[in-house]
Amino acid sequence: NDYIQKKMCLEDTNVELGDLYHLAFLGRGRFGTVNLVHNRISLYAIKTVPRSYIEGNSQLAKYILSEKNVLLSLDFPLIVKLVKTLKTENLCFFLMEYISGKSLEEYINSKTIHKNLNEAKFFGACMSLILDYLKKKNIAHRDIKPANLIIDSTGYIKILDFGTAKKIRDFTFTVIGTPTCMAPEVLLGKGYSYPVDYWSLGVCMYFVYYGRYPFGHGITDIMVIYDQIINKELTFSRETGLVEFNHFLGTMLNKKPTNRLCTLQSIQNDSLYKGFNWKELSEFKMKPPYVPKAKELKDSANSLKNTRTPFLPLISKYKFETFQPPEEREV
Ligand code: ADP
Ligand code: MG
Repeated sequence: NDYIQKKMCLEDTNVELGDLYHLAFLGRGRFGTVNLVHNRISLYAIKTVPRSYIEGNSQLAKYILSEKNVLLSLDFPLIVKLVKTLKTENLCFFLMEYISGKSLEEYINSKTIHKNLNEAKFFGACMSLILDYLKKKNIAHRDIKPANLIIDSTGYIKILDFGTAKKIRDFTFTVIGTPTCMAPEVLLGKGYSYPVDYWSLGVCMYFVYYGRYPFGHGITDIMVIYDQIINKELTFSRETGLVEFNHFLGTMLNKKPTNRLCTLQSIQNDSLYKGFNWKELSEFKMKPPYVPKAKELKDSANSLKNTRTPFLPLISKYKFETFQPPEEREV
């Protein structure tokens, strides 16, 4: 019921800027700022981008338009929903589903004890469902990383940030993404496709289990990170009980994209997931390994919707810093 009610609000595209009240600042992206707002009924996240950035910069316009078009074409419970885009004379806005939670990066970095196989399998399975949906839509995300995966208030994963996503016909060449999570073929410049996201899935599962990145962990020199991704052999713990997990990681983090498991079915059939109840997962009936506590969330105060600071006058006065486009790198 909660899900259907929330979905109905997210499909209500009658919301206008004048209906929105400001609650909190959520984050700064590469394109603009993201704030938490409400319209007395629902909470939303709203991303604001000055129009001058777009109109004066064809490179940026390309990314923003692509993010808009990709997001509007998607409707999946584990992917952030874009309700609509809006604009004023000087600003444009992405009105989105508000995802209340903690990023996988924050969660794993806050833990003192790692090596929880159930967590790695659960989060890996959520990511597999997302990638399967995206692949059916011919979309490669190209920036799958723990910071873009939010463990929401139900304990399931939601993915956001589609600024790098692209509809792929056969191959693409742009060197884009976050260094520690990038697949070797992105760096080699001979063209790549969907398997890059499955490599990143392997990186994320490794990160969840070991609490560190498999390649370039803690390294700031980007060329050293790239060198490790391309040349370094994957290392893992030889503890008993990890045979299937290590084998799975070895497959996903195979330097050769054709050796990876790049379909949902092949992942489901892998011995790591033997006995795993995929039906229960996709119906959200599986108990998640971790649920963020209410007090950790920005929307936990009961009085939130009594806050009536109109959003538009507030944001119109805001000074935006010069923007940084997603990095495209020469290698
Ligand atoms: P960019 O594409 O520029 O990296 P993001 O879309 O990742 O921007 O947004 C920047 C930050 O704003 C995110 O890291 C996150 O903290 C917050 N944020 C973005 N979208 C949402 C959302 N729908 N719900 C909650 N927080 C969000
Ligand atoms: Mg981001």
